[in-house]
Amino acid sequence: MFERELSELRKKDLLRGLMALESRQGPVVTIRGKRYINFASNDYLGLACHPEVVRAAEAAGRRFGFGAGASRLLAGGNTLHEKLEDMVAFFKKTEAALVFNSGYAANTGLLPALAAGDAVIFSDELNHASIIDGCRLSNAAVRIYRHRDMGHLAELMKREPKRRKIVATDGVFSMDGDIAPLPDIYSLCLKHGAALWLDDAHATGVLGDGSGSLSHFGLEPGPWTVQMGTFSKALGSFGAFVAGSSDIVDWALNSARSFMFSTALPSPVVAASIKALSLVVKRPGMRKRLRSNTLKACEGLRGIGCDVVPGETPIIPLRQRTVRQALALSSYLWDSGIYAPAIRPPTVREPRVRITVTAVHTERHIRLLVEAIRKYGKRTER
Ligand SMILES: *Cc1c(COP(=O)(O)O)cnc(C)c1O
Repeated sequence: MFERELSELRKKDLLRGLMALESRQGPVVTIRGKRYINFASNDYLGLACHPEVVRAAEAAGRRFGFGAGASRLLAGGNTLHEKLEDMVAFFKKTEAALVFNSGYAANTGLLPALAAGDAVIFSDELNHASIIDGCRLSNAAVRIYRHRDMGHLAELMKREPKRRKIVATDGVFSMDGDIAPLPDIYSLCLKHGAALWLDDAHATGVLGDGSGSLSHFGLEPGPWTVQMGTFSKALGSFGAFVAGSSDIVDWALNSARSFMFSTALPSPVVAASIKALSLVVKRPGMRKRLRSNTLKACEGLRGIGCDVVPGETPIIPLRQRTVRQALALSSYLWDSGIYAPAIRPPTVREPRVRITVTAVHTERHIRLLVEAIRKYGKRTER
């Protein structure tokens, strides 16, 4: 089955396979018996293996066991889920928050539920696949605006004077590392009475005071903003949340199918998120370190002629003209002991090698990365 489809993918260099680490997640990982410097992880602060996070998970396992046993609407939730939700609401400065099982589940469950009825969703063309799928699952009209193009968004919004509007955007775009122009999006939402669905998967723990892209811009959440985010990236854990007004949360637990019809997260996972969140608040040094490592990597890469924008986020795309070129760079790095994956369609339109820097990389790791790319001797293009 699917032989033809698979060989078609292989021919186009688009066939994907899996990679199994033989070590824990971290700046250096072991794969098939060899060590690689890992620039392929979203564990931006190194919290996935932080001893306090691991200990919190162990303790919760001993107290509450592992599996939750049922959905939150039945007997699956416990005081840990509630504690995490209180922390998130405080952290995100909202009335309430609700934990979802994953970012994918939040985007495909609640976004359609918010758009129920006659809404129209305005979605950035580079939004994460789970937002795209959330749009598909809704029966709302969907208008795609050009990436970060506020003129285009304004024009599309103007054309829908009567309908209820939701603007959906990544806070930090996951494959490009750039940030949504939220002050402008805010003005447009206010002008048109639109709601904002903000996916802060890559901004939570990273931007502003750690609480994400709103704080990066000094913006306060309004009753019409819904901040979604994950525990699976900078927080080194798993699961996701939605933070907003208590009406939104009540509506979510009464209508978001991915919340209603799925077993609650295991307690050790929730306890790990609680600990990670408290570390993000208590230890701003981790974020400073991430930022300085990001700057070091960007400066190093610019120094050898790579066209990278010194960004505020640890996602550094090295755009390549073709899939083959992206694979060639990635496999050269692999042979040099560096894991930086090629990202291909359909994940992105323009193939690239995506580098993610973390707070736990050392100067040497970053130097070796830059040195290997210099040796590869290819000038990347934006
Ligand atoms: C990773 C990611 C998600 C999905 O989150 P998971 O918890 O991994 O399912 C959603 N949105 C964006 C922007 C992401 O980068």
